[in-house]
Amino acid sequence: MPASAAINTPPDRIAQLIAKRPGRRALLRAVDEIGEAATSAELYEAVKCRHADIPRATFFRALRFLLENGVLRKAVLHGGECVYQRANDPRNILWVCDDCAKVSAFRSDEVSAALSQAARRRGMEASPVSVEVHFHCGCRWESVGERKEIRPG
Ligand SMILES: [Zn+2]
Repeated sequence: MPASAAINTPPDRIAQLIAKRPGRRALLRAVDEIGEAATSAELYEAVKCRHADIPRATFFRALRFLLENGVLRKAVLHGGECVYQRANDPRNILWVCDDCAKVSAFRSDEVSAALSQAARRRGMEASPVSVEVHFHCGCRWESVGERKEIRPG
């Protein structure tokens, strides 16, 4: 993300800049409706449900605006895929299903506190914690019609 003069824009001014652009409003609404860390493709599909004619470029300009102004945050998963959440969403531990790639977000208060303490002991200051945990959400069992039995490999 490029450094931007807009980073110091007051929150009420950012709210005005969001309010006057339907694409920005629609994107924020999609983020809130999905309620989990979502990929740009998932967000674009959600926006298109209400604004079928929104150009992809407009969507990505809105996404960049909201990132640059600290309204949204981006996490890059180990596979290179990016997911987006509200910047103030306290659920910044991301559990990624190894089977279907579903991302679930969890609160990290306790983990963050422990990591910040560990960092301070080493003379470092921790940035906001973002962690990715891999798991199996159960989709594997649904897809093969089995329960409580992990299919090999
Ligand atoms: Zn899954």
